[in-house]
Amino acid sequence: MKKLLPLYINRLSPCYSRDHLGNHGCYARNDIPRFLHLTALGRFDEAFYVLKETNPFSSGCGRFCDHPCETACNRTKYDQPVDIKALERFVSDAGYEKGLKPKMTGEAKDKKIAIVGSGPAGLSSAYFLARCGYRVEVFEKHEVAGGLLTEGIPAYRYPRDVFEKELAFIKETGVVIHTCANINKESFKDLAGNYDAVIVATGAHKPGELGIEGEQLDGVENGIAFLKKVNLGQFEKLGIKKGEKIGVIGGGYTAMDVVRCAVRLGAEPTMVYRRTSAEMTAHQGEVEETKREGVKFKFLRSPLKIEKTEDALRLTVQKMKLGPVDESGRSKPVAVYGETETYHFDRIVLAIGDKPDLFFVGEKFTVDFPRMICRDLPEDVQSKIFITGDAAMGATDNTGMVVRVVGLAQDTVKSVREYLGETVETDKNRKTAFYNTLNTKYFEKSGRLIEETVPLEKRNGNFDEIVKTVDADLAQLMAGRCFNCGICIQCDWCWHYSDGSLIKLDREWTPEKDAFYYEFLTEKVSDATFKSVEACPRAALSISSAGSATESLREEQYITKSELEGGNRYDN
Ligand SMILES: Cc1cc2nc3c(=O)[nH]c(=O)nc-3n(C[C@H](O)[C@H](O)[C@H](O)COP(=O)(O)OP(=O)(O)OC[C@H]3O[C@@H](n4cnc5c(N)ncnc54)[C@H](O)[C@@H]3O)c2cc1C
Ligand code: SF4
Ligand code: SF4
Repeated sequence: MKKLLPLYINRLSPCYSRDHLGNHGCYARNDIPRFLHLTALGRFDEAFYVLKETNPFSSGCGRFCDHPCETACNRTKYDQPVDIKALERFVSDAGYEKGLKPKMTGEAKDKKIAIVGSGPAGLSSAYFLARCGYRVEVFEKHEVAGGLLTEGIPAYRYPRDVFEKELAFIKETGVVIHTCANINKESFKDLAGNYDAVIVATGAHKPGELGIEGEQLDGVENGIAFLKKVNLGQFEKLGIKKGEKIGVIGGGYTAMDVVRCAVRLGAEPTMVYRRTSAEMTAHQGEVEETKREGVKFKFLRSPLKIEKTEDALRLTVQKMKLGPVDESGRSKPVAVYGETETYHFDRIVLAIGDKPDLFFVGEKFTVDFPRMICRDLPEDVQSKIFITGDAAMGATDNTGMVVRVVGLAQDTVKSVREYLGETVETDKNRKTAFYNTLNTKYFEKSGRLIEETVPLEKRNGNFDEIVKTVDADLAQLMAGRCFNCGICIQCDWCWHYSDGSLIKLDREWTPEKDAFYYEFLTEKVSDATFKSVEACPRAALSISSAGSATESLREEQYITKSELEGGNRYDN
């Protein structure tokens, strides 16, 4: 039988990995336990760089992300989840404030890559590739870069000066952005011919249709077009009158932002949604804020037709009730036949989900993420085309999220690099430190942050940011609530229990994945050492059999008395 040996093998924490049921933590794979530990230590610059390994939009995500990480956080089962999102925002803002520059990870390469679309998917792909040394050019059809970051998400949730800092940071890596560069069939063919790889990151911008009578009438408009005018400050084009009654159809991000912008512009919006607030794809916290801001809701109402009356638009809706769960995991609305209602609005905005518009790649194409097979291109360039972001998720999944497209960009970039001849290392197949593997007796119960927000009466008539960034002292304190699941933070509990079989090394803590801070004294390994494994609050120690895949770790972490006395290891 093989001998069992304790070892420091760092695990993944649920907040940034996927569990056995497929539930996701952070899609961008932000290394949360490590950036939080650095934050708790007050080492904010290093925490910033941990975040920037995986997320060029960490200041943005620290504001508008739906934070699946906090839903997956182990601390939820103990008292309340750690404030990961607010701390990501603090660390990122602090890094920009200090003028920290991006770190390049690879030598300059003589390979050039074209990216179509400058939304978060395109810009993240550009950032990751440029850091590796590639020459990257982004082609954006609009006059400003950012995609839905600048045209969709309003400034009260993502101030433009914060976006500008993230953009400047990305550009520091050498990324070149061409705006007003609308890629059509011809220019797409040129890109495929002239670049070593092309990434399509054009989002989902073909307006969705309700398929009902009257949706083409004057006064009925698309939600993203509405938001674009607001976000570009084109208020005259929008022409909203004080007290104007606006009906907004939908229950996702777009609908939510349209009604909140409308309130700020003095209108009286009503959201019409065919399910209830519990099924909305927008985050529940935001739904509550929207209600507080005075938006009216008509739940379980599905539009039937729109008609023009003398001075208004008349919307007829079908009353609905909730039925069984559908493929989206939410209760499906079913009609209550014979029961309808009518409402009168000055304007109706359709915020019902848009679809990818990939006309420029030709008629014959298939998406096999992260690849795209475009059969209208010459055969010798077909293998150069990749896809990412909302354009890749397509019509099948309408719950796009920035953090999700950042994760997709990482997958696409890995594939592009491999296509261009690189061997891309991925982190080892590590286990996850779920709640039941932790030893929580060492932790005290404590509560979450209460974020400071702008009072309701100060929100009308302006687009100022609503939530404030926490200060450094509070950030350090709240980051200390993290259990740091799966990683060693030199808390010494294992060493206390080890009965002399562990030696404490004189090493400063680093966020490196396989760093270790104690060594096993081979001759002294005993039952007490196994107790150390149990004692670890964070499941950073494991028991593995000698000769297994962990052999190299064992060679590094085990030392004999004679090696120790000879002083021939780790002198440097
Ligand atoms: C109103 C709204 C609010 C949202 N709020 C949130 C939120 O709070 N949190 C969150 O996580 N997610 C939010 N989302 C979702 C998120 O914004 C998207 O999932 C994300 O922006 C998708 O990124 P992308 O880069 O794939 O596409 P996009 O952001 O859509 O960018 C695509 C870019 O490609 C350009 N393009 C298209 N065709 C061409 C062409 N032929 N040539 C050149 N350029 C082209 C477009 O102009 C655009 O700039 C929101 C979405 C909307 C609509
Ligand atoms: S990007 Fe979103 S999911 Fe990832 S750590 Fe930040 S808040 Fe959490
Ligand atoms: S306690 Fe910390 S490491 Fe553990 S799941 Fe929560 S945020 Fe992640």
